[in-house]
Amino acid sequence: MAEEESANRGHAHVNAVYLKLGPLAGVVKEALLSSWELACEGAGLTGARLVVEEVPILVYCPRCGESRPLPSMQWFACPECGQPVSEVLQGRELQVTALEIQE
Ligand SMILES: [Zn+2]
Repeated sequence: MAEEESANRGHAHVNAVYLKLGPLAGVVKEALLSSWELACEGAGLTGARLVVEEVPILVYCPRCGESRPLPSMQWFACPECGQPVSEVLQGRELQVTALEIQE
């Protein structure tokens, strides 16, 4: 996406890419960062920084009627009342939220 955006703007230089990463995205932050430089070179984004914002898992508890942070990925239950929860509101993100572009 960053590559496209850069191309759209007449190959403006991308300084930084801001990414939201949830624990359920299936991507490890360290792996992402270590492959970043290589990916940048291939995409014409050499020198761009990758800023990863890790977001916590939020689930919806039907018993409390509230969204709750999930303390552990091994235990999908409400931390307040112990009700098993299945509705994940947040935590699957692998999403570019912003680009810092040098005009
Ligand atoms: Zn609850």
